[in-house]
Amino acid sequence: MRCMDRAREECGVFGVFGHNDAVRLTYFGLYALQHRGQESAGIVSSTGKSMYEHKAMGLVPEIFDESVLNELHGHIAIGHVRYSTTGSSIIRNAQPFSASHAGKTLAVAHNGNLVNAREVRRDLEDTGSLFQTTMDSEIIVHLLARNVHRGIEEALVKTVSAIEGAYSCVLMTEDSLMAFRDPNGFRPLCLGHLDGAYILASETCALDLIDATYVRDIDPGEIVIINEHGLQSIKPLSNRRKSFCIFEYIYFARPDSTIFGQTVYGVRKRLGQRLALENPIEADFAMPFPDSGNYAAIGFCQQSGIPLEMGVIRNHYVGRTFIEPAQSMRDFGVRVKLNPVKDILAGKRVIIVEDSIIRGTTSKTRIKTLRQAGAREIHMVVSCPPHQHPCFYGIDFSTRGELIASSHTVEEIRAFIGLDSLHYLSLDGMLAATGLENDHFCLACFNGEYPIQPGEGLSKLHLES
Ligand code: SF4
Repeated sequence: MRCMDRAREECGVFGVFGHNDAVRLTYFGLYALQHRGQESAGIVSSTGKSMYEHKAMGLVPEIFDESVLNELHGHIAIGHVRYSTTGSSIIRNAQPFSASHAGKTLAVAHNGNLVNAREVRRDLEDTGSLFQTTMDSEIIVHLLARNVHRGIEEALVKTVSAIEGAYSCVLMTEDSLMAFRDPNGFRPLCLGHLDGAYILASETCALDLIDATYVRDIDPGEIVIINEHGLQSIKPLSNRRKSFCIFEYIYFARPDSTIFGQTVYGVRKRLGQRLALENPIEADFAMPFPDSGNYAAIGFCQQSGIPLEMGVIRNHYVGRTFIEPAQSMRDFGVRVKLNPVKDILAGKRVIIVEDSIIRGTTSKTRIKTLRQAGAREIHMVVSCPPHQHPCFYGIDFSTRGELIASSHTVEEIRAFIGLDSLHYLSLDGMLAATGLENDHFCLACFNGEYPIQPGEGLSKLHLES
């Protein structure tokens, strides 16, 4: 049983060059990035001559054990955790995706969504390419293979010049580790160092776990090639307006990561402070539904002076699936994960601090359990504006139908969820909390202004039709 009311993380990527423990480091890197994708994971490694690969459906510790890791050799490795945003969740679509061409093996791990995937794929198929998957990421491998005879640098430049959309990728051949990030910089990607080895990761929390030092972010539009000669950086694409995904700060990235130059924890706390400034509400206490809203709730309470309580307790040991209970056990799926504390809630005026509302259905069920536990008034503050528009850059709400705010007013959403009042953070308040320039962000799901125009009919399964 899975909560389908939350937005889904997109994917996480990790890479190592020049370490005897490259495979094990990649395993730990993926472990730290598990929040970015829980459907499948994989590692490809290389000794400089031979490449090894293991991919499967499931969580990182379910897929890799000692015996599997011992079969993967080499000082170069890349890894991927996947939540499918283009193509079905099946093993064929797991990453890294690798293919051999003209005596060279290429492997890619991709975070993001290409918005011109259908057009590029059609062109490639028209000129003889045979596709094995329904992922947009496979296009990257085909484009590289087409051009690899010109040398890897030119092949990379040709590839990034042909694709449009959101992509933070790590790639490898037998003897090189590479990375590139789209010129808008939608998704994070950083570079680290460990014992003379180079590390690439979606988020800095993965560097922390393996005790690597953060060096810098890979710049939007930058390509890096790492081999025995060191690191080469090229920036072949013209400068574009930065379009960092602001939802990484609100919801996706881990709070202990630093992305786009700011700590996620700090931004979330400031979002909560802004919420408190914009929405003076009288209440006995404020609370998050753990873990969403935890850090915004801290900021909200510090700013408003309203006490913070944990009115529901999260069961940390609930797996992704469990046996369905009898019909009579209503709302079991919600209560098994989050159990209301009746003594705290009974007769109280409560403010729930949430990070986002996507469909609204889970919020509705959760609020019902708080009412049953005796809460007298329930208000909700949300640390971003209403999600009114789909995302085509790698987040799993690619149609308006998945977003309650695309067809309902705030008052209608309040009534649907069963709240006494509902308050969203303003767009300006959200931007101010980031501490970055206002024009450095993608805000498309909030204001409908898409930094790159999406192709017609884009959806998660558009390459399968
Ligand atoms: S549309 Fe929203 S979720 Fe998608 S990249 Fe832009 S800010 Fe992020």
